[in-house]
Amino acid sequence: MQKKQLNISYQVYQSKDELPAEWASLLQRATEATERSYAPYSNFNVGAAILLDNGEVVCGSNQENAAYPSGLCAERSACYYAGAAFPGARMLAIAVAARQDGKLTETPTYPCGACRQALVQYENRGGVPMTVIVGSATRIEVFDSVKDLLPFAFDNLDESVMI
Ligand SMILES: [Zn+2]
Repeated sequence: MQKKQLNISYQVYQSKDELPAEWASLLQRATEATERSYAPYSNFNVGAAILLDNGEVVCGSNQENAAYPSGLCAERSACYYAGAAFPGARMLAIAVAARQDGKLTETPTYPCGACRQALVQYENRGGVPMTVIVGSATRIEVFDSVKDLLPFAFDNLDESVMI
């Protein structure tokens, strides 16, 4: 038996002013995207913004539905939109922000498990790490790769097998 250990490092910033300008701008876009969320059931408005290697920024927001599982998270609405509108473009970074009852959350809102799985696959397809920036009213956390949030992603279905 071998015992193994994982170490994940990430950066914590006290405010947007400390962030590199490109990330601060992306987080601002994610925060603005919360305004376009449709969350009448949870009142939890999430926004996501993805920076592509062609310079485009694609935003998404959570979209709820009366048939509850039919709704979709902000992160997946953004990455699926990016994949559909700009196929082949690499996703370099994603920023996420959330408001509850109108106010920015006190702590960072991390992508849910399903979104992590979707994002890690785009990261793998792009072949470059996707930086994850999660904002809140009290701090901003930055992860160098989606894999830092999902180190054991499901990836056993090789794309070449699926053709
Ligand atoms: Zn999600």
